[in-house]
Amino acid sequence: MKKVVKFGGSSLASAEQFKKVGNIIRAEESRRYVVPSAPGKRFSADTKVTDMLYGCYAAAENGEDFTEKLAAIKDRYQEIIDGLGLKFSLDEDFEVIRKNFSEKAGSNYAASRGEFLNGKIMAAYLGFEFIDAAEVVRFDENGDFQSEITNEIMSARLEKAKNAVIPGFYGATEEGRVITFSRGGSDITGSLVARAVNADLYENWTDVSGFLIADPRIVKGSKSIETITYKELRELSYMGASVLHEDAIFPVRRAGIPINIRNTNAPADKGTLIVEATCCQPKYTITGIAGTDGFAAITIEKAMMNSEVGFCRKVLQVFEDNGVSIEHMPSGIDTMTIFVHKDKFEEKEQQILAGIHKAVDPDHIELESDLALIAIVGRGMKSTRGTAGRIFSALAHAHINVKMIDQGSSELNIIVGVRHDDFKNAIKALYEIFVLTQI
Ligand code: ASP
Repeated sequence: MKKVVKFGGSSLASAEQFKKVGNIIRAEESRRYVVPSAPGKRFSADTKVTDMLYGCYAAAENGEDFTEKLAAIKDRYQEIIDGLGLKFSLDEDFEVIRKNFSEKAGSNYAASRGEFLNGKIMAAYLGFEFIDAAEVVRFDENGDFQSEITNEIMSARLEKAKNAVIPGFYGATEEGRVITFSRGGSDITGSLVARAVNADLYENWTDVSGFLIADPRIVKGSKSIETITYKELRELSYMGASVLHEDAIFPVRRAGIPINIRNTNAPADKGTLIVEATCCQPKYTITGIAGTDGFAAITIEKAMMNSEVGFCRKVLQVFEDNGVSIEHMPSGIDTMTIFVHKDKFEEKEQQILAGIHKAVDPDHIELESDLALIAIVGRGMKSTRGTAGRIFSALAHAHINVKMIDQGSSELNIIVGVRHDDFKNAIKALYEIFVLTQI
């Protein structure tokens, strides 16, 4: 049994947190490959080390004195080293960093030091080998990630290591120029390592016990999801549920390795298991509910629209020409409605309206903003009759008007559009009918 364990910033924010992580790793011999993030926040008003590094480097780039800023970063690490009672010094590393900052080594290099240094401490603390991610995660000269080359280099390198710490979030070009993934990218490194060593499981340790059925800021005490498929997760993350970096899914998914989201602060909790497919029936008809607001709808009306060949294409072309992507497109007999992100649309509003007039000469165009979309997602819906009925009766009972309905043919989700003001109540009503009053 081989496991890759990735720990997020809050799991490594202090010596106290490091000790919890140490106990988790030592509890199972199979936890052989460790991917750490940089130290995160110790309390809510705290600053993540990655942000401190960006700030410090910006000062260096502007030619300002960055001594104090760098010293504050060093203090964060020293506090961890001292708290763990390690005889280990980062003095030399900080000297190199100071020099590279003065020579303007780039903000990617700067940010990557958060994981690099934390990885070194972690390796010293566990007695594991330290493998610099710059050696095993490859980007090309344009900064594009090279998945296949990375997999080759990484598998060959890790084969030789019984246990190893590989810092998350960054890699390098062949020439050694450091490049980072986007924020939260240590999740991706964990996934790459899992694929490279052909792990049985990728454990992603964070500060929540997995995915919750609904956003806990809206539904207090929401229950968590035990098992979710990659497809369901994709639907929920599209709608704003986020625990894991989206790009972290592909490497393990193609290798058939499940991901287990676990809680460093509650290691006895089973968390959420993300799998390709499962026979295990979900506990409730739905797996999760997620939603986002900030959508606008453009409804275009024209008599006999349905018989006008190419009508939809011409309308869509206008959006494409203006670089605005379309989220949903429900249509009627003589109407079609286009849902877009409000912010993106607003920038191009007048050009798009003029474009539609010119392209299809509609009878009428109506705009509505401040809309929210809610996705009710679940593999269990396919085999259950009456799901849509329950959704609409729950919303009707809560006096919520449904502005749009969209069910994909996969029957994996039903998306409803509601007014922004009804957003939270709609999610509460749906949670209540599917989870609290489950039949
Ligand atoms: N430390 C990086 C960030 O704050 C990457 C990560 O934590 O995954 O975004």
